[in-house]
Amino acid sequence: MISEQIAALHSQLPAGVTLVAVSKYHPVAALLQAYEAGQRVFGESHVQELVAKQALMPADVQWHFIGHLQTNKVKYIAPFVSLIHAVDSLRLLREIDKQAGRCGRRIDCLLELHLAQEETKYGFTPDELTALLDSDEWATLPHVRIRGLMTMATYTDDTEQIRREFRTTHDLYRHARDHVAAASHWDMLSMGMSHDYPVAIEEGATLVRIGTSIFGQRQY
Ligand SMILES: *Cc1c(COP(=O)(O)O)cnc(C)c1O
Repeated sequence: MISEQIAALHSQLPAGVTLVAVSKYHPVAALLQAYEAGQRVFGESHVQELVAKQALMPADVQWHFIGHLQTNKVKYIAPFVSLIHAVDSLRLLREIDKQAGRCGRRIDCLLELHLAQEETKYGFTPDELTALLDSDEWATLPHVRIRGLMTMATYTDDTEQIRREFRTTHDLYRHARDHVAAASHWDMLSMGMSHDYPVAIEEGATLVRIGTSIFGQRQY
């Protein structure tokens, strides 16, 4: 099942779109099935769970942290994480920079954009994002590299609303790429989950974060 889903997604996704297999709340045995089917990029959203799984999985897995990251937990994932999707404050970016520096690393990050009509979602509003990028501090942090944006659409059946949110995100992403000094590294747009990734790809996603369609309903 899992291996068939991985194979189907790999053959279906356009070139240039990376599949992040979202494995939160699934056991390592399930991750290994995906790994054996050729999947190397895994996304987790809880620090403790990620650290535990990283110790058990093969060393060539690329771990993406996709959830809300608390500043006091950055140190646990800084030694190995390959991409942090949901940076939602300058304070968090500074902490990632500090912890990456301690490990002698430079960590790739995405800024989370908040467009969804849900109070609970984290992230920058478009105005906050513009203000952050206009200020120069992010560009002076030597141990982080901002590669692009991440967003979660409103959880709704209204495909047109989802499409509008993804399109707005892509517009902001393009606008930033044209204006940000480190433009050469501005190349990642993370949007789309099991129920809305086809729309996200149509609207320019380069990373899709898919859990349920691969692993089924989340366990424990
Ligand atoms: C859990 C999660 C996903 C995956 O959701 P599915 O609906 O299971 O595909 C994607 N992105 C984030 C940020 C998540 O927390």
